[in-house]
Amino acid sequence: PYDVLIVGGGPAGAAAAVYAARKGIRTGVAAERFGGQVNDTLAIENYISVLETDGPKFAAALEAHTRAYGVDIMNLQRADKLIPAAEPGGLISVQMANGATLQSKTVILSTGARWRNVNVPGEAEYKNKGVAYCPHCDGPLFKGKRTAVIGGGNSGVEAAIDLAGIVAHVTLIEFADQLKADAVLVNKLKSLPNVTIHTNAQTTEITGADGKVNGLKYKDRATNVEHTVQLEGVFVQIGLVPNTEWLKGTVELSKFGEIMVDSHGRTNIPGVFAAGDCTTVPFKQIVIAAGDGSKAALSAFDHLIRMPVV
Ligand code: FAD
Repeated sequence: PYDVLIVGGGPAGAAAAVYAARKGIRTGVAAERFGGQVNDTLAIENYISVLETDGPKFAAALEAHTRAYGVDIMNLQRADKLIPAAEPGGLISVQMANGATLQSKTVILSTGARWRNVNVPGEAEYKNKGVAYCPHCDGPLFKGKRTAVIGGGNSGVEAAIDLAGIVAHVTLIEFADQLKADAVLVNKLKSLPNVTIHTNAQTTEITGADGKVNGLKYKDRATNVEHTVQLEGVFVQIGLVPNTEWLKGTVELSKFGEIMVDSHGRTNIPGVFAAGDCTTVPFKQIVIAAGDGSKAALSAFDHLIRMPVV
């Protein structure tokens, strides 16, 4: 069995693996896709001390750093079920989709999250070519340009306020007949001179030419009339879904499906820790996930040295 088994190989899982392995303990990482969301990223310009890199390069560096410490990397492996230890100090089991069962004294869950897609023509085609999901990451790429935000919940309205300070103009598109964000955010958004809000508006297409976004089409749901907005960027903000479906009923989750963790990354199950985008820790970013994974590994080590000697 492992001392620390990490499920998920994104920035959180890789950082947890490096921190655990540096304690000289048996460490394994099982990941469906090592590198995680970073694989889908073009430019990364906010990982402190790295002025600029790209996703595939960053993912390769995560893997190289993890391998350098002799960590057992089980790539292309999906976990299906977590089985807590039968007695205090016992082994925790993780059942894999391929039928195997991995056992460990401690487990770190770092399965990340995925952005919900709007599923209209043009979205997939122009991903990273004008279609974006993370204003903290990609906002500055649209400096002085026209953008839209799809989604009028808290994250959409926050994104629109954030972008309005950087880009030339923001069009916010909300499907329902009113914005669902907190009133204080809605008031702030409405006070901004370079923002247009369309409610009752259904996005029907993201258009482009020469490999880049050039517009967005939406249907006014009251009149059924289709409108076109000319712009250079579209931020889709209709939800970030944590990859925690497999933990339902075992690990305590928030109403958004995020793993509930305390300040040390502990979950409600003894010996099970969690880190990164799959948890209640706010602001889903690489540097935050990496810090969080390191913290969970140190917490797991702390747990291990307190386990009774048998
Ligand atoms: P993830 O990166 O999501 O990794 C999760 C890992 O768990 C993966 O290995 C996955 O395969 C695995 N996994 C999931 N379910 C299972 C399972 N059941 N069994 C086994 N393994 C599983 N952040 C920035 O800071 N800067 C940026 O510029 C930036 N740009 C971004 C651009 C895009 C297009 C996207 C999508 C995100 C971007 N982000 C950026 C956000 C950043 O990628 C995430 O915050 C970060 O990757 C979270 O790390 P994580 O390790 O928690 O999760």
